[in-house]
Amino acid sequence: MDKKQALEKLRDRFGDRLVETGAARAAHGRDEGGYDGPAPDAVFYAENAHEVADAVKICARHRLPVIPFGAGTSLEGHVTAPKGGLSIDLSRMNRILALHAADLDVRVEAGVTRQQLNAWLHDQGLFFPVDPGAECTLGGMVATRASGTNAVRYGTMREQVLTLEVVTATGEIIETGTRARKSAAGYDLTHLFVGSEGTLGIVTEMTLKLYGLPEKLMAGVCRFPSLSAAIQTVITTIQSGLPVARIELLDELSVRAVNRHSGMAHVEAPTLFLEFHGSPKAVDEQVESFHAIASEYGGSAPEFASKQEDINRLWHARHQLYYATRAMAGGKHVCTTDVCVPISRLGDCILETRADFDAAGIFGTMVGHVGDGNFHTIIAADPHDPVEMQRAEDLKEKMAHRAIEMGGTVTGEHGIGSGKRKFLEAERGASLALMRQVKAALDPFGIMNPGKVVMTDDRDDQPCSGRH
Ligand SMILES: Cc1cc2nc3c(=O)[nH]c(=O)nc-3n(C[C@H](O)[C@H](O)[C@H](O)COP(=O)(O)OP(=O)(O)OC[C@H]3O[C@@H](n4cnc5c(N)ncnc54)[C@H](O)[C@@H]3O)c2cc1C
Repeated sequence: MDKKQALEKLRDRFGDRLVETGAARAAHGRDEGGYDGPAPDAVFYAENAHEVADAVKICARHRLPVIPFGAGTSLEGHVTAPKGGLSIDLSRMNRILALHAADLDVRVEAGVTRQQLNAWLHDQGLFFPVDPGAECTLGGMVATRASGTNAVRYGTMREQVLTLEVVTATGEIIETGTRARKSAAGYDLTHLFVGSEGTLGIVTEMTLKLYGLPEKLMAGVCRFPSLSAAIQTVITTIQSGLPVARIELLDELSVRAVNRHSGMAHVEAPTLFLEFHGSPKAVDEQVESFHAIASEYGGSAPEFASKQEDINRLWHARHQLYYATRAMAGGKHVCTTDVCVPISRLGDCILETRADFDAAGIFGTMVGHVGDGNFHTIIAADPHDPVEMQRAEDLKEKMAHRAIEMGGTVTGEHGIGSGKRKFLEAERGASLALMRQVKAALDPFGIMNPGKVVMTDDRDDQPCSGRH
């Protein structure tokens, strides 16, 4: 790697949009999950795909690592720069390029955020459903295969992407698909890049599916006498094919955190936050069916918000749970982890995890996009107490291995980054070797976000060098 020469060329080409201050570098080497550095050597604020391609070509020539950066809200050490390199910040590429309302799709640049897109779409009667709890870019969401509270009804990013414009690891600009809703033409490169966490290429534009705003929407809460009763209600709801739009579990501690942080007054008990979409008749039927199921398990009558602002407040509070737990943790270090299991195993997985927390004496909230078997723990530990920090780490490990044993995955939505790399082999076994071959084929110089997802070989922890 010839870092000095690469940085000189990048400075010549991009002028003051190549920023090398300590503050910019530090801000681009940390994420919201508490992974803090190492920082990249420089940050480049790209404005279009051709600039991204030129930057990647310079980096490839000099074997300088490239770390794509959206909003830095990822949680598993995705944007750290273990070998230094160039962070390419795509947040200025935030144009909405074309709306095809008749086809229900939209073309956007990678730096557009989901909130920006939905605010823009609202007057068209359309919306984009994937809603991670942070203000993140759609490029970052493609890269992490993100999902959120609506995934149970509309699917994850994997289901929403029709085609991507990608700058490859050698600096070519390619389009991976078309606007057609389905295609049987060749390998599915689009979905190879979805979830690749910046390790195979840089997404610069994308075409996404859209949905009509539902004619009727009802959102509210339903309380339960126990965690187990709430989980059983979710499992029965999903197994009976009820097309619920959102069904989010909050344990008692989560409800307390939400009440304190967002000024709400929910009864502190295991609670489901719910939303139903459809025609007025369909929504009424869904609510009725759900109520019947919940009653079987001792659930309260669902309480629905009547005004849009109350509905927004409810979901905003849910999305703020990470920060709400952090506030309640009294200065302790807080981290979050997620797993996803087949729905029939959800009850065992959550209850066994809760028992582990109680046995370890660790403070943590449990919350989940439980309709698709996905749940999170938000764990607090004292950074000055190595024993407690280790216990928290052990809990995360146990949760990951339990999910694998139950036929699930170590992450339903946050991704692997560097933090969960150690579990990938246990989950994916021999197919990890094939992943490494894909990585080596698409990133021949090993420059794309090194140290994340897979290691191409043992030398991956060494400084980048042209291996091919
Ligand atoms: C409070 C909170 C709640 C959250 N809730 C959810 C949730 O419900 N569901 C969920 O899925 N996630 C959730 N997240 C995690 C996070 O918001 C998502 O992972 C999100 O998709 C990251 O987007 P970003 O723009 O911040 O990407 P970054 O953090 O900047 O980057 C993430 C990864 O993607 C790569 N990358 C970024 N942009 C590109 C690009 N254009 N091309 C190629 N690679 C790129 C980066 O190199 C990195 O590996 C939450 C995070 C927080 C802090």
